[in-house]
Amino acid sequence: MNLLRAIPSVDYLINLPVMVALQEEYGHDWCLQVTRQVLEQVRNQAQNDETIPTDNEIVFQVESQLKAQSNTTLQPVINASGVILHTNLGRAPLCQSALEEVLRIGQAYSTLEYDLDKGQRGKRDIHAADLLVRLTGSEAALVVNNNAGGVMLVLAALANRKKVAISRSQLVEIGGGFRIPEVMRLSGAKLVEIGTTNRTHLNDYETAIQEGASLIMLAHQSNFKIVGFTASPSLSEITELAHRHEIPVIHDLGSGALIDPATFGLETELTVQEALLQGADVVCFSGDKLLGGPQAGLIVGKAKYIEKIRRHPFYRALRADKLCLAALSATLLEYLKGSAVKTVPVLAMLARQEADVKAQAEHWVKLLGTGHVIQGESAIGGGSLPGQTQPTWLLALRPKSARQFSRRLRQLDTPIITRIENDLILLDPRTVLPAQEAVLLENLHNALLEEQNEKRP
Ligand SMILES: *Cc1c(COP(=O)(O)O)cnc(C)c1O
Repeated sequence: MNLLRAIPSVDYLINLPVMVALQEEYGHDWCLQVTRQVLEQVRNQAQNDETIPTDNEIVFQVESQLKAQSNTTLQPVINASGVILHTNLGRAPLCQSALEEVLRIGQAYSTLEYDLDKGQRGKRDIHAADLLVRLTGSEAALVVNNNAGGVMLVLAALANRKKVAISRSQLVEIGGGFRIPEVMRLSGAKLVEIGTTNRTHLNDYETAIQEGASLIMLAHQSNFKIVGFTASPSLSEITELAHRHEIPVIHDLGSGALIDPATFGLETELTVQEALLQGADVVCFSGDKLLGGPQAGLIVGKAKYIEKIRRHPFYRALRADKLCLAALSATLLEYLKGSAVKTVPVLAMLARQEADVKAQAEHWVKLLGTGHVIQGESAIGGGSLPGQTQPTWLLALRPKSARQFSRRLRQLDTPIITRIENDLILLDPRTVLPAQEAVLLENLHNALLEEQNEKRP
């Protein structure tokens, strides 16, 4: 019991100069709370083993706990995995102008819903809309929080209590529990499944319309592919048929490229502009997939439908915030100016030449003095272009234990995310942002040294 009396008091500790400095950084209340917790642990420990740490040791514990507690859970990482649109790693990194716009709009009041001309309330939904109209050739545009919400909103506004025809080949689950048939039912639509998994014909659509379908829904297959004995009518055939019967066609393009991936040597995809040109009445797509912007759901199409969607109460619940609208506008401007392929990180990564990536991987081997360069594949990811990859070159390291080494890399201040294959740690230069390269190499170098030192008994 005497021992417990030797434990310093909270009052004494909190007034030590080091603790005063800690209070300046973390605030009085938080310091006090953590100090009490640490002292509680000290008391328990003393009862167990009859030892008492020094004041310095206690203060050190308080400081480490404060540091640990102030680590936010959302942290930047270095993506060396070679997956360009990695949903777990936040999909698209933003371009410089988008970051600057977020700062410009976020740090001040803004005209989010204010009309400077009239000096009164304005509309949130005008932001980014003109840019989308100009870029896609649509009549009107609307931005919501994400594409899953966008699809839900469009269906709720246009398909509630209506029969909606959709091909069985497109009743997909996107990931994260987003299933097209469930979303359709939730929005109040009556699903009319047509065709088979592998083959759907124009007359399947025609039959559905004759049986009362008043809307046609198309969905990008997103993360899977049907190959072999397949058939589906072209979009223009479907829209021609639908318009003859005066019903609209909604197309959930998913990733929604504004630039055909064929430009980057990938398989060709229907772009948003082409989908509209081929007659789709409403097209939905994501802001943070192939577009390379912030998380958003972009809805473009005929003005009369967009207006109806805007008036649905879900729009209010799904509206995009000002930081999203700021980043999106800046990203879209890059497309308008024709600079996107250089400035939007996702596009710049897709556009990188194989030889360029190889030279960078070789440079890494030279700087690190270890590892070798092997051929590999970068993945597009994000459920955008299923199974599609780009040839790349990887830095391959063979540590004692690949799993332990990748864990070590994940525990760094700026964690490095890698791939493991055949006991090799693989790093793909394609997905490493130029601004992170120096940190990557320095930390990799140190981690390799540490692991070497551990090898010696
Ligand atoms: C990704 C995707 C969605 C969901 O978009 P989010 O922006 O992730 O909400 C919906 N439909 C399709 C076809 C998709 O590929």
